[in-house]
Amino acid sequence: MRKYIFIVGGVMSGVGKGVAAASIGKILQSRGFEVTAIKIDPYVNVDAGTMNPTEHGEVFVLNDGMECDQDMGNYERFLDKDLSGANYMTTGSIYQTVINRERNLEYGGRCVEVVPHIPLEVINKIDKAATKNKSQIVIVEIGGTVGEYQNILFLEAIRMLKTRKSQDVLSCLVSYLPLQEGGELKTKPTQYAARTLNSAGIQPDIIIARAKVPLDKKRKEKIAFFCNVLDEAVISAPNIESIYEVPINFEKDNLSEFILKKLNLKSKGRDLRRWQRLIKNVRLSKKPVKIGIVGKYFNTGEFVLADSYISVIEAVKQAAYFFKRKPIISWLNAEVYEKMPSRLSELNEYDGIIVPGGFGGRGTEGKIAAIRYCRENKIPFLGLCYGMQLATIEFARSVGKLKKAHTTEINPKTSYPVIDILQEQKKNLSEKNYGGTMRLGAYPAIIKKGTIAYHAYKQHLISERHRHRYEVNPQYIEKLEKKGLVFSGFSPDRKLMEILELSRETHPFFLATQFHPEFKSRPLNPHPLFKEFIKTAIQFKISNHK
Ligand code: GLN
Repeated sequence: MRKYIFIVGGVMSGVGKGVAAASIGKILQSRGFEVTAIKIDPYVNVDAGTMNPTEHGEVFVLNDGMECDQDMGNYERFLDKDLSGANYMTTGSIYQTVINRERNLEYGGRCVEVVPHIPLEVINKIDKAATKNKSQIVIVEIGGTVGEYQNILFLEAIRMLKTRKSQDVLSCLVSYLPLQEGGELKTKPTQYAARTLNSAGIQPDIIIARAKVPLDKKRKEKIAFFCNVLDEAVISAPNIESIYEVPINFEKDNLSEFILKKLNLKSKGRDLRRWQRLIKNVRLSKKPVKIGIVGKYFNTGEFVLADSYISVIEAVKQAAYFFKRKPIISWLNAEVYEKMPSRLSELNEYDGIIVPGGFGGRGTEGKIAAIRYCRENKIPFLGLCYGMQLATIEFARSVGKLKKAHTTEINPKTSYPVIDILQEQKKNLSEKNYGGTMRLGAYPAIIKKGTIAYHAYKQHLISERHRHRYEVNPQYIEKLEKKGLVFSGFSPDRKLMEILELSRETHPFFLATQFHPEFKSRPLNPHPLFKEFIKTAIQFKISNHK
């Protein structure tokens, strides 16, 4: 019998619903169950691909090319599983399906209504995803916060499913408890959130109490009493240093045991050993490794910044923990280097520099200047997607003497278009067909022997996730190679360049990828390129007595 666990948020957004959902998945997986996780976002966008990262954080990409919310990244990282587009839906995608079905006469001439047809389609999609993933337990996170208008139809889906399958459905409220100046955690906002959920016809079975500090016995009892749940169903979820500790913390309150009991499931043992080892590494990592990320999504403050590059940050952390180093990550604003080139010398303070993915012109000259500084001063450098394109431009300009070389994304009239639009993308842009049309998802690549990339992957054929419209212009490949640029990864037909690097004789680590390795890095399995980058950064630090 399939079991459903719905996660909804109370009081405010940004309290870690995604990590809570992923962690519940992890602890149930550790009890021997096949688990999958689904994210439902309340916005009308059909997917997350058309949104600016400052609006909604990073756009995460799945193997099948689905552009989705960053929480999907959390699920993949915690469950150590590849998920598919079936695990992600939005108000927009659900309406689109229902409207298409109506156009195809699939409702047999009936009047199609928001209720019940939209919630029924939500349930239908959840079941399809669970079947596709062959999962007995499906965790469904509803975006937004209880009480807002936008997610009401999803709550309706929970209500309908719970009425039909009361033994198989649990709902979990992840709520926030503010800490009063005097040091007391306040439960009232959570009580209101539970009541609001009640008014949507749903009684929470579990309440995860997010707060700065752990919950004391008194507060636990109060929440249990006023929100009508059992004492053992109130889980303390204080702030902790690493999100990877959350599953372990949940288990301190015996959460998996409670869930299994409620859902009438018999545990098949318990194995969190590998995860425990990861946490041990996190705790043991004291010596720092300092990584600078040169980005541009700075205009809405630190919080959004971290959200815009979350997979890159996690990939750095995972690789650092692997080598028992404490990752210290700093944000470097590319635009500053355009106005004040003298500031580039601050790059010397870092053990490694990353130029991540991006779009458009703002900040690119600053990123190019940073790449040049890393190349000339032999600072370990990792470029991701746009980072690879800008590294190609920098090399073409400085070493290839192709002054003003550029990408046609920024300067369509450049005399040296070393980065140019993919042939198949031209039509999409001219027809303004932007949504879900980039070169998206997993594609294979061949790795050249004797290169840094081969040393890292130790294999000839890889598969990595993409999200781009532009690429290295084939007309310049030979020219750049003659000047010393090594294309160490390419598509099997050798048409698309996937990795570039400089030989180890000329630079300790200068490597960039057209794909996004960060999307496939997992805490229990850090990405080989990030590992190689961090390893070199640590050596670089030691040899420079930093
Ligand atoms: N803007 C570039 C392109 O479309 C790079 C995209 C990215 O970094 N994800 O090809």
